Amino acid sequence: MRTCYLQLPVEYSVRNTDPESVATAMDQLLKTALSTPGIMSDYGPVQIGEFTVLPDESAVRHELIALLRAARAYVDTEDACASNEHQEAVKLQEEIDGVLQAHDTQYPHRCQDCGDQFRDDQVVPLDQVKNLLERVSPGEPMPSGECPECGALCQPIKVK
Ligand SMILES: [Zn+2]
Repeated sequence: MRTCYLQLPVEYSVRNTDPESVATAMDQLLKTALSTPGIMSDYGPVQIGEFTVLPDESAVRHELIALLRAARAYVDTEDACASNEHQEAVKLQEEIDGVLQAHDTQYPHRCQDCGDQFRDDQVVPLDQVKNLLERVSPGEPMPSGECPECGALCQPIKVK
């Protein structure tokens, strides 16, 4: 027997459920369907496992960027006294800054609540945000949209 992994996209609302619950429901659904006599008989013996939630692209990216920001703060150019070490540290900082800037340019909207960042095509545009003016306190900078994940307001990121 060989093993393959099938993938399927699922759209859901964070207000109603989470990926693990959907996977559990899908397992039940599949179990019921597969109990139909002869339903897979055209395919020979087939063993079907359980639904697995794949790592979320945005969660992985979020963690990597957080790690990179932490590393950026850790690279100490002052402390590296030997001149070649100092040069290496400066170079490393510049490389990290380049990656972070490219990321912020591509994902310029940061959620004020969950902290994730979004592209222009992902963020809920301002003209579709409900009760926008009531949700912005006086003196607070104007948001750039609404978080598609948690529904909080997003602030624009100024790329240096
Ligand atoms: Zn959010």
